[in-house]
Amino acid sequence: MPSDQQNLNKITWQSENCLSCKWFYPADPLNADILSNGKCLEPSLKKFELIVTGRDWCNKFAEITQTQIDRMQEKAMEKS
Ligand code: SF4
Repeated sequence: MPSDQQNLNKITWQSENCLSCKWFYPADPLNADILSNGKCLEPSLKKFELIVTGRDWCNKFAEITQTQIDRMQEKAMEKS
């Protein structure tokens, strides 16, 4: 069984960008890639209502887990 880190390496060509950050909420979680826009929901940055892309980065980066990705995509599928 591959670890979460191995799974992330398969879907991102860069590490430590917004696409692989747990605070990134892409507009379309089912099709998000490095060029996708999304909100940054990091608690201290949320008030600025930042729109970032999957290839952006900042020093608040915290790596998302595969479980968190799955949960976000499941929620998006329920809405569609
Ligand atoms: S701006 Fe920073 S905290 Fe927000 S999603 Fe990107 S890396 Fe994460």
